[in-house]
Amino acid sequence: MACNRQAMTTHYRPGEPVDWPAFRADLAGLQIDDRPGACERAAADYHWYSPLLAERLRGRRADLVVRPRSLYDVLRLAGACARHRVPLTVRGGGTGNYGQCVPLHGGVTMDATALDQVLGIEPGLASVQAGVMMHALNEAARAGGQQLRMWPSTERIATLGGFIAGGHSGIGSIRHGILADPGNVTRLRVVTLEDPPRVIDLLGADIQKAHHAYGTNGILVEVDVALTGAVEWQHTITLFERYDDVLRFGLAAGQATIDGSIDVFQLSAVERRITPYYAGLRTRLEDADAMFAQVSPDTLPAYEALAAQWGGRLVVRGTEAELLAQGLPSATECAYNHTTLEALKTDGGVTYLQVAYPGPLDADLVARQMQRFGDEVLMHHEFSRAGGALVAFALPLVQYFDEPQLRALMQSFEDDGCTIFDPHTWVLEDGGMKQVDPLQLDFKREADPMGLMNPGKVRAWDEIVLGRPGGLL
Ligand SMILES: Cc1cc2nc3c(=O)[nH]c(=O)nc-3n(C[C@H](O)[C@H](O)[C@H](O)COP(=O)(O)OP(=O)(O)OC[C@H]3O[C@@H](n4cnc5c(N)ncnc54)[C@H](O)[C@@H]3O)c2cc1C
Repeated sequence: MACNRQAMTTHYRPGEPVDWPAFRADLAGLQIDDRPGACERAAADYHWYSPLLAERLRGRRADLVVRPRSLYDVLRLAGACARHRVPLTVRGGGTGNYGQCVPLHGGVTMDATALDQVLGIEPGLASVQAGVMMHALNEAARAGGQQLRMWPSTERIATLGGFIAGGHSGIGSIRHGILADPGNVTRLRVVTLEDPPRVIDLLGADIQKAHHAYGTNGILVEVDVALTGAVEWQHTITLFERYDDVLRFGLAAGQATIDGSIDVFQLSAVERRITPYYAGLRTRLEDADAMFAQVSPDTLPAYEALAAQWGGRLVVRGTEAELLAQGLPSATECAYNHTTLEALKTDGGVTYLQVAYPGPLDADLVARQMQRFGDEVLMHHEFSRAGGALVAFALPLVQYFDEPQLRALMQSFEDDGCTIFDPHTWVLEDGGMKQVDPLQLDFKREADPMGLMNPGKVRAWDEIVLGRPGGLL
């Protein structure tokens, strides 16, 4: 069936003319906004962290924004886009960092945030519409004594569909692994860009066909996601004399979490030159390196004792609400890409990199890198679990000069055996994935046979299917 459909398909090429009046007539009754301000807002995400993306994606926006309220609306929109060959970009909370929801070649932005229904919660599982905000889902789950297994540090303003399509891991990943680990996401319901569109349920390993595809492999409309028992996590700050000791402690605490002797939901190491950027902590931390962590109340004494073995002093503890009441940030907002956000609020000269280290993390290597890079690079590491193993990666802040400087820094990390996930590109394979994923390319042929979903994002599509260089604007 899919092959026949493909045989009839002509692939979309950017610049094709669109019969807008006919397209709009097909969307009659849907919520449409074509005001320039609305299109501009719908093209804004957090790609401005990167001076290169800010420059190169400037002015890219949709011609109109459509906000479906039901699966029926999504089917009408997808069918109309396919019929009239209009590019479609899906947008959730718009918190992605790589311009994932910036429409590269105009068309329609589909705002998914009205698809926000929690369809059902049972022990260990939530079924939701993909546009639900993760914070709202967590609140609904907590009412029944459960919570999500993980969320990005943007949990308050990001959708679950956006996390699955654009994210990787986050708070909770030290306990439950990354999104792609089996069992974390158990079903994706996808609408294809065809006329008429199809609805496909992906289960088990098939979820990888649409996970982390930057909204190019069908529209996610429903998600089943695993839940775990709710814990009143203690948000903590522990100070150390040396950053490499924070990392050694992180390795020990991460392993203890895997072994089950302590219960930790977040482990974020941040060096002393970064913590003054955090609102609320500017003058409250001594000149020391810090571990921001979320720990279960039951195992907090064991966590504190372990930290002491590495010279750590636990100086802040409390629930999220208690910290916020004291004017302190939650541990969540000192982690992942919140570090870069906090720095950029007062220092427009910084940007960042994403660096994975060969396991197990070598704290001495990081110490040598800090020596080598001096004031150009400020260190921040996240401890996580992936495929059952303890992993660590850095989101270092960089004092930015120009692109050659960034490329040289990336090369320098790579020379140390690290892997760079380049946050300064909009191309899927050049940033997060590092390689063409044949499974995803095959599914794109099925779910988006004309290549209408934000064309220009997928190098493999441009190069293998269209036969033109990828990464072009
Ligand atoms: C301060 C800050 C901290 C962050 N921390 C983390 C972190 O801890 N971990 C992490 O992984 N990421 C993190 N991110 C990146 C981002 O916030 C998350 O990945 C977030 O979950 C994206 O959700 P969103 O709803 O904002 O998605 P959007 O930005 O709206 O979209 C992201 C991608 O998903 C696609 N998409 C959205 N909805 C759908 C849908 N229904 N169907 C198909 N495709 C869709 C879009 O087209 C786009 O390509 C952070 C970003 C910032 C700015």
